[in-house]
Amino acid sequence: MSDHGDLNEIMARLSFEPIDVYAEIEAARRAAAAAPLPEPSIIPMPEFPAFGLVRYPCPLGCGWHHDEHPGRDVAAERLVLPADVDRLDEALTAHAYARAEALKARIEAAISGHFEQAHPGR
Ligand SMILES: [Zn+2]
Repeated sequence: MSDHGDLNEIMARLSFEPIDVYAEIEAARRAAAAAPLPEPSIIPMPEFPAFGLVRYPCPLGCGWHHDEHPGRDVAAERLVLPADVDRLDEALTAHAYARAEALKARIEAAISGHFEQAHPGR
Protein backbone atom coordinates (compact mmCIF):
# COMPACT_ATOMS: atom_id res chain seq x y z
CA MET A 1 0.00 0.00 0.00
CA SER A 2 1.22 3.49 -0.85
CA ASP A 3 1.69 6.22 1.71
CA HIS A 4 -1.49 7.89 0.43
CA GLY A 5 -3.42 4.67 0.87
CA ASP A 6 -2.26 4.38 4.46
CA LEU A 7 -3.18 7.99 5.14
CA ASN A 8 -6.64 7.61 3.59
CA GLU A 9 -7.27 4.53 5.70
CA ILE A 10 -6.25 6.37 8.87
CA MET A 11 -8.35 9.44 7.98
CA ALA A 12 -11.38 7.22 7.35
CA ARG A 13 -10.96 5.66 10.78
CA LEU A 14 -10.62 9.11 12.38
CA SER A 15 -13.79 10.52 10.81
CA PHE A 16 -16.37 11.64 13.29
CA GLU A 17 -19.95 10.53 13.37
CA PRO A 18 -22.53 13.30 13.77
CA ILE A 19 -23.50 13.74 17.40
CA ASP A 20 -26.30 15.52 19.24
CA VAL A 21 -24.26 18.14 21.09
CA TYR A 22 -27.10 19.06 23.46
CA ALA A 23 -27.66 15.41 24.39
CA GLU A 24 -23.92 15.03 25.03
CA ILE A 25 -23.92 18.11 27.27
CA GLU A 26 -26.97 16.90 29.18
CA ALA A 27 -25.40 13.44 29.65
CA ALA A 28 -22.18 15.03 30.91
CA ARG A 29 -24.17 17.27 33.28
CA ARG A 30 -26.04 14.24 34.70
CA ALA A 31 -22.79 12.27 35.07
CA ALA A 32 -21.15 15.20 36.90
CA ALA A 33 -24.13 15.56 39.25
CA ALA A 34 -24.07 11.83 40.03
CA ALA A 35 -20.29 11.60 40.45
CA PRO A 36 -18.88 11.28 43.95
CA LEU A 37 -17.41 14.40 45.53
CA PRO A 38 -13.66 14.76 45.08
CA GLU A 39 -11.41 13.70 47.94
CA PRO A 40 -10.54 16.48 50.36
CA SER A 41 -7.08 17.85 49.72
CA ILE A 42 -4.50 19.86 51.64
CA ILE A 43 -3.48 21.60 48.41
CA PRO A 44 -4.19 25.36 48.61
CA MET A 45 -5.42 27.50 45.72
CA PRO A 46 -2.43 28.24 43.49
CA GLU A 47 -1.02 31.61 42.54
CA PHE A 48 0.47 32.46 39.13
CA PRO A 49 3.32 34.91 39.82
CA ALA A 50 5.02 34.50 36.42
CA PHE A 51 4.27 32.99 33.04
CA GLY A 52 4.34 29.20 33.29
CA LEU A 53 4.88 29.20 37.05
CA VAL A 54 2.27 27.80 39.43
CA ARG A 55 2.90 28.58 43.10
CA TYR A 56 1.29 26.84 46.06
CA PRO A 57 1.74 29.05 49.14
CA CYS A 58 1.74 27.85 52.73
CA PRO A 59 -1.92 27.87 53.88
CA LEU A 60 -0.79 29.54 57.12
CA GLY A 61 0.76 32.47 55.23
CA CYS A 62 4.31 32.10 56.58
CA GLY A 63 5.86 32.97 53.20
CA TRP A 64 6.95 29.46 52.23
CA HIS A 65 5.75 28.13 48.87
CA HIS A 66 6.09 25.18 46.50
CA ASP A 67 6.53 25.97 42.79
CA GLU A 68 5.49 23.86 39.82
CA HIS A 69 6.35 24.42 36.16
CA PRO A 70 3.72 22.36 34.30
CA GLY A 71 4.62 23.57 30.81
CA ARG A 72 8.32 22.88 31.24
CA ASP A 73 7.62 19.50 32.83
CA VAL A 74 5.27 18.31 30.09
CA ALA A 75 7.77 19.37 27.42
CA ALA A 76 10.43 17.19 29.07
CA GLU A 77 8.14 14.17 29.32
CA ARG A 78 8.21 11.21 27.01
CA LEU A 79 4.75 10.19 25.83
CA VAL A 80 4.45 6.77 24.22
CA LEU A 81 1.31 6.39 22.13
CA PRO A 82 -0.17 3.15 20.83
CA ALA A 83 -0.05 2.46 17.10
CA ASP A 84 -3.71 1.45 17.29
CA VAL A 85 -5.68 4.69 16.81
CA ASP A 86 -8.69 3.15 18.56
CA ARG A 87 -6.65 3.10 21.78
CA LEU A 88 -5.26 6.63 21.41
CA ASP A 89 -7.96 8.32 23.51
CA GLU A 90 -7.60 5.73 26.26
CA ALA A 91 -3.80 6.12 26.31
CA LEU A 92 -3.94 9.93 26.43
CA THR A 93 -6.53 9.86 29.21
CA ALA A 94 -4.48 7.37 31.25
CA HIS A 95 -1.39 9.52 30.77
CA ALA A 96 -3.27 12.66 31.89
CA TYR A 97 -4.59 10.92 35.01
CA ALA A 98 -1.12 9.60 35.87
CA ARG A 99 0.34 13.12 35.49
CA ALA A 100 -2.42 14.60 37.66
CA GLU A 101 -1.88 11.98 40.38
CA ALA A 102 1.89 12.52 40.32
CA LEU A 103 1.41 16.31 40.53
CA LYS A 104 -1.01 15.97 43.44
CA ALA A 105 1.32 13.59 45.31
CA ARG A 106 4.31 15.91 44.73
CA ILE A 107 2.49 19.01 46.03
CA GLU A 108 0.99 17.17 49.01
CA ALA A 109 4.42 15.78 49.94
CA ALA A 110 5.97 19.26 49.74
CA ILE A 111 3.23 20.82 51.90
CA SER A 112 3.32 17.94 54.42
CA GLY A 113 7.11 18.22 54.65
CA HIS A 114 6.86 21.97 55.17
CA PHE A 115 4.27 21.53 57.95
CA GLU A 116 6.39 18.91 59.71
CA GLN A 117 9.41 21.22 59.60
CA ALA A 118 7.92 24.69 60.11
CA HIS A 119 4.56 24.14 61.77
CA PRO A 120 4.80 20.89 63.81
CA GLY A 121 1.51 19.92 65.39
CA ARG A 122 -0.62 22.10 63.09
ZN1 LIG B 1 4.24 27.69 56.47
